[in-house]
Amino acid sequence: MDKNIRIAIIGGGPAGLSAGMYLEKKGYENYVIFERQDRVGGKCWSPHYNGRRYEMGAIMGVPSYYAVHDVEEFCGITHDGPKLNRNYKNANGDVIEPFARTLGNIIKNPWMLKMKGQLKKFGELLETKYKGYDVNGHRGVAEGRYDGYAVTPGREKIEGVNPNLKDLALPFKKFCEMNGVPLVQKIWIGPFTSFGYGYFDEIPAAYVLKYLDYQTCMNFVKVNLWTWKEGTQYIWEQLNAHLKNPARLNSTIDKVERKDGKVYVTVNGKVEEYDKIIVTAPLYIPNKRADGQKGMVEYFDARADELELFSKIDYERYDVQAFLTDPDKHPEISYYVFDNMEPEKLGHLMVYYRRWKDTVDQVITTYALRKHKNSKEIPYEECRQMVQDDLKIMHNPAKEVINEWSVYYFPHVFTEDYAAGWYDKVEAMQGKYDTYYAGEVMSFGDMDETAEYSRELVERFF
Ligand SMILES: Cc1cc2nc3c(=O)[nH]c(=O)nc-3n(C[C@H](O)[C@H](O)[C@H](O)COP(=O)(O)OP(=O)(O)OC[C@H]3O[C@@H](n4cnc5c(N)ncnc54)[C@H](O)[C@@H]3O)c2cc1C
Repeated sequence: MDKNIRIAIIGGGPAGLSAGMYLEKKGYENYVIFERQDRVGGKCWSPHYNGRRYEMGAIMGVPSYYAVHDVEEFCGITHDGPKLNRNYKNANGDVIEPFARTLGNIIKNPWMLKMKGQLKKFGELLETKYKGYDVNGHRGVAEGRYDGYAVTPGREKIEGVNPNLKDLALPFKKFCEMNGVPLVQKIWIGPFTSFGYGYFDEIPAAYVLKYLDYQTCMNFVKVNLWTWKEGTQYIWEQLNAHLKNPARLNSTIDKVERKDGKVYVTVNGKVEEYDKIIVTAPLYIPNKRADGQKGMVEYFDARADELELFSKIDYERYDVQAFLTDPDKHPEISYYVFDNMEPEKLGHLMVYYRRWKDTVDQVITTYALRKHKNSKEIPYEECRQMVQDDLKIMHNPAKEVINEWSVYYFPHVFTEDYAAGWYDKVEAMQGKYDTYYAGEVMSFGDMDETAEYSRELVERFF
């Protein structure tokens, strides 16, 4: 492709900014990143409180975040944040120890022995029966193929045929049961459901395992995790500052028209002409949102195939509240509440996060889901109150809520559409209308999968 082509990128989150970085690395410098908000980072949002930054969005990474590592290298920064740690409580607020940690406990506890056996078996199955399960993105999976880049620092291109991969379209619960390893859900659920990615009876195993491949999940178990002192937003602020063309903030895109091989973007009332466009902003939002975000099909001259495919996308209603406590009610550490990670406990507090060890004068954040595929959505205000009531039960009541948001979170499709080849149909549309689709839905809703997808998109098409 001609290196001088004019490329518009919609969205200044991890996907859009890293698309800019990888384009630049390949010699494309004629790109513009449009960001609707007055800041970059998207769901990596780290506001300030008392001279420090707390996390309203993304918090952590793992050592296999190779694309995030590319960004760190590009900017000369590193993951220098506070070490994460956590404990567990039941729904009554009692501290519990769900995983016996000492050998003595394992011998006494047959459940733990069974769990260890299933974990080992699961690791082996993923390596053999499901070879190729962990490459970034979903190309070929529904047809029993893998096609992508290995999760290694060198990201070697790998592809092959493996009909077993079709099982990944099944909900993760069914997938585990079918493979005789139902207990491993107890390990995967912590960094999945409480992190807002939905329930195991509704979400295809492909999403669970591409994000929480075996190694990544073990990094969570061992708390071998990265954080950033200035917050995850800092990564993307730094990237933005190092790009040749930093994002154009406060860009309201009124309209995008694609005709005669050109892309016309009406931004803040003025028409600009481009050759190609990369969309990292939401493709489809099934309802009206209070924050005014819209799916691209609403402001693009969307074609029938775009409308048809993108209307299958749903997302999680994931709510975050940031609160202060009285010093004597401050949690001594972050807590997971496994009891509340089941669909029957929709709307309840699943995890709360204390970021710094050294001071009680800091912000604590809470996390709850309020939509499950088969139940009625819980209204925002109701969920907000439920979480605050739960905090009282946990003996850490909120004194004051200082920030909150309901996130457009983890866009995805469900089993039927996944199995019917949704991803291969969308991949076949890449470039068709001089338009490329990237961002969370194309891989998975975490910083690294989205940045990595942008890397691959640039590698494949530019
Ligand atoms: C509470 C929470 C916890 C999380 N924890 C983690 C974690 O620990 N680790 C991790 O890796 N990930 C985590 N994530 C997920 C991670 O933040 C996202 O997956 C990642 O930010 C997605 O990047 P993106 O660029 O695809 O989308 P986004 O981050 O959503 O960025 C999209 C950008 O597009 C902009 N935009 C939208 N519409 C338009 C428009 N019409 N015109 C112009 N711009 C537009 C938005 O304002 C936004 O800046 C978390 C997210 C949340 C909310």
